[in-house]
Amino acid sequence: MLPTSDLLNRLSESATLKMTQLSRELAAKGVDVISLSIGQPDFHAPQHIVEAAKKALDAGYDGYSPVAGYQNLREAICTKLKRDNQLDYTPNQIVVSTGAKQSLANIFLCFLNEGDEVIIPAPYWVSYPEQVKMCNATPIYIETSVESDFKITPEQLEAAITPRTKFIVYSSPCNPSGTIYSKDELAGLVKVLEKYPEIIIVSDEIYEHINYIGEHYSIAQFPSVKDRTVVVNGQAKGYAMPGWRIGYIAAPLYIAKACDKLQGQTTSGTNSVAQIATIEALLGDQTPTKEMRVAFEKRRDLVLSMLNEIPNVKCNIPDGAFYIFPDLSAYFGKSYNGEIINDSDDLCLFLLNVGHVAAVAGSGFGAPNCIRFSYAASESVLKEAFTRVKDALQKLA
Ligand code: PMP
Ligand code: GLU
Repeated sequence: MLPTSDLLNRLSESATLKMTQLSRELAAKGVDVISLSIGQPDFHAPQHIVEAAKKALDAGYDGYSPVAGYQNLREAICTKLKRDNQLDYTPNQIVVSTGAKQSLANIFLCFLNEGDEVIIPAPYWVSYPEQVKMCNATPIYIETSVESDFKITPEQLEAAITPRTKFIVYSSPCNPSGTIYSKDELAGLVKVLEKYPEIIIVSDEIYEHINYIGEHYSIAQFPSVKDRTVVVNGQAKGYAMPGWRIGYIAAPLYIAKACDKLQGQTTSGTNSVAQIATIEALLGDQTPTKEMRVAFEKRRDLVLSMLNEIPNVKCNIPDGAFYIFPDLSAYFGKSYNGEIINDSDDLCLFLLNVGHVAAVAGSGFGAPNCIRFSYAASESVLKEAFTRVKDALQKLA
């Protein structure tokens, strides 16, 4: 058997995808599992977007697109960035990729060398540290807690910066905590970053449209850092198009050019039909996106009230995204049928095997006291799921 590469050996398996696979396996054995593990909307892509894809198929969009995406798609992305975020970009600053996951990997692979550091506030999306490790670079975590709504302070940011810091990467709204940085909070972080002009900011805004507290604010809207910010976004969440695999960056030109070059040797341009449909998604009717946000907010309220009925649960109020990330560490050290629950991984397996609810352990997100539940499911499914969670937790003694 071939030994695997050093690169592969540095990686952990994706915690989100692993739990999703485990729950699929249990379901295949006939167990009625409720999966709140993978983060994807339970809605279908809006019909006008589906129609645009059908038209694109009939119109013969079979060929390779330019590596960075069709010109008219990149123009539509610039229009969206101006309309929604008051940001000016030109199409040559946009690179469209096979999901925001690839957008992020492109950035890191293009600029990181061994020994470079990337600041990652925890909790973070599972793939950030793994992609950084793929490049032989070092993730530098900043710890937060449920008490501070999982937000970092300017002082913490400054303390994490070293001469080797190349990037800071975070998502707002945050996967997994739902935390959103306000304009004022971002201003505090920008003040620190102004002192370190060599650091590039990677702002993952894929949950932009799933926001329960008002306007989305992008750090790129601060003129002092716009020229060294990469905005990452995509169609998976707000437009319910995860499997269409469209993500993109808006970046300083040299970063866009680098990502274009790398992508030209890996995947080339992403799916042509999905690209054409994305133009409709971005420029067409935005009502379905707004309706999905309203539905997610109702579900957020529902799961929050159900979780609050369970003893010994500490939880922030998620302001966006579609995850709830309670601290369940009060249950560590308890046991069921002689098996001790030592940590969030054990607790997740217990909830899966005994409660038949799949979630993802906080360990994969850098917050080992917590567990992530996706509430992108119908209200009746969520009611059943959190009743099961409550019943299962009561079995621990
Ligand atoms: N960033 C965050 C914060 C995410 O939750 C996800 C999950 N899908 C991604 C990026 C990757 O998205 P995509 O499906 O577009 O690759
Ligand atoms: N981003 C989603 C999640 O966090 C999809 C799975 C993944 O790509 O990690 O569950």
